[in-house]
Amino acid sequence: DSFIKLNLPRPLIQACKTLGYEKPTPIQAACIPLAMLGRDLCASAITGSGKTAAFALPTLERLMYRPKRVSATRALILTPTRELAVQIHSMIQKLAQYTDIKCGLIVGGLSVREQEVVLRSMPDIVVATPGRMIDHLRNSMSVDLDDLSVLILDEADRLLQTGFATEIQELEKFMLGFSLQVRLCPKRRQTMLFSATMTEEVKELAKLSLNKPLRLSA
Ligand code: AMP
Repeated sequence: DSFIKLNLPRPLIQACKTLGYEKPTPIQAACIPLAMLGRDLCASAITGSGKTAAFALPTLERLMYRPKRVSATRALILTPTRELAVQIHSMIQKLAQYTDIKCGLIVGGLSVREQEVVLRSMPDIVVATPGRMIDHLRNSMSVDLDDLSVLILDEADRLLQTGFATEIQELEKFMLGFSLQVRLCPKRRQTMLFSATMTEEVKELAKLSLNKPLRLSA
């Protein structure tokens, strides 16, 4: 079984088995080993390629074996639409079912109060649309990104179409605690960017957010 060859922890291999995944898709086979080395990635991949598990499995692996500060969000996944966020959240819950990693969903359409409850349950991973994430960062004390160790920019080309270019500058301030000189990627953070197309705008975002990224396509 080639998920075993990827050196993933047993609870994650077990989850893949439960989901009926027999072997990694090409993007998973390409991304997972590099992501597990802690490298930043810039991947061309479309929906249907298995990209969600390609970023979720190494993210879970990283969080499973690191000490946690209870109140902090340790991984943030930004995706352009509510529908995508719901799908990613559901997939991560399935992949994390044999671990103690918790995943929360922050999207429009749920009341702010409901989402405060989600955030107060202190999920390790937050899946969010950028606008809603910013609302929470601006207006509540229940999100803390100071300890973020993994950032995923999913469907980066579409993220940019939603007006994310200005939102990202705002998010950057929160992610850096306002004071650091470095930009989106302080040295301890791993960032992975996925995009169906590599437009000039996506390349700009990659330059801003990634640190010596490896480029992949599948
Ligand atoms: P995604 O591209 O992440 O939206 O995934 C597309 C579909 O492929 C989802 O329904 C996944 O559950 C499924 N999938 C992901 N990885 C695998 C795999 N290794 N084997 C079989 N199906 C998979």
